Amino acid sequence: MEPVNTDVSAESDGPAAAVDGDTGAGEASGAATLGMIQLAVEELWPESLAEDWDEVGLVAGHPGAEVHRVMFAVDPTIDVIEEAIDFGAELLITHHPLLLKGVTSVAANTAKGKAVHRLIESGTALMTVHTNGDSAVGGVSDVLADALGLQNVAPLTPAANGLPEEGIGRVGDLEEVLTLGDFAARVFGILPSVAGGVRVSGDRDGLIRRVAVCGGAGDSLFGEVRASNADVYVTADLRHHPASEAREAAVNDRPYLIDVSHFASEWLWLPAAAEALGNVLTDQGHDVEIRVSNTNSDPWDFILTPGGD
Ligand SMILES: [Zn+2]
Repeated sequence: MEPVNTDVSAESDGPAAAVDGDTGAGEASGAATLGMIQLAVEELWPESLAEDWDEVGLVAGHPGAEVHRVMFAVDPTIDVIEEAIDFGAELLITHHPLLLKGVTSVAANTAKGKAVHRLIESGTALMTVHTNGDSAVGGVSDVLADALGLQNVAPLTPAANGLPEEGIGRVGDLEEVLTLGDFAARVFGILPSVAGGVRVSGDRDGLIRRVAVCGGAGDSLFGEVRASNADVYVTADLRHHPASEAREAAVNDRPYLIDVSHFASEWLWLPAAAEALGNVLTDQGHDVEIRVSNTNSDPWDFILTPGGD
């Protein structure tokens, strides 16, 4: 896998650069414990915002263990886990759960079991911030909406147990009318570079202003997108039938569709999440180094297309 290639990657000086705690501030200077970081995570992305089917929170690790380094990533793949171990992270926070469905074995000769073994044997804790991270203010779709320049942003589906500004997906307005082609170029430009690129359904010269977004797979939200009067919907993992039926049901040919990489759409959240957690821990006087994974865990490696421009 190629490393993520983006201007906002986690190298050294972008917004995803290491977020160092301030050793001098506060009364509880020094390392945080894993349990303290659990509380900070709960403050930022409360578990009550997670969907009923989801599994979020601590997956592996001792709450009393000291944590000096934290790494954020989209997926708990073995490459990401090895990167966290190489970095010296005592905590890996991923968006996607490692264990969402029931398991009866974590034997090391299975993929999931190997991941569990590497985590525990290396002393690396694993925590999941999934749909709670989608729904929260400053969450996955909020960051996507912000990166696209949307104004007056509101959730597509308000959270059942949250504030009016919390929930799944976001809808808002561009500052100016754009053609679908120009807007698609903006979408392409803000996302990490991945093999699949960006797919668009609609008239390249069609004009748009109102934009709905959902980081990750958003094909369950077409009703909400239509109700929001969005001109275009940006999401990931659009399959043939939901996409085709949504285009057949379009009014005045809208909403247009922009299908992006699931990984890329959620990766954007990582630098913002790292900075937010860093700020909370710094305020508490903890000295924790936080960085974003450089591993591209998008499963696709190359694409053949018939050409075009
Ligand atoms: Zn996802």
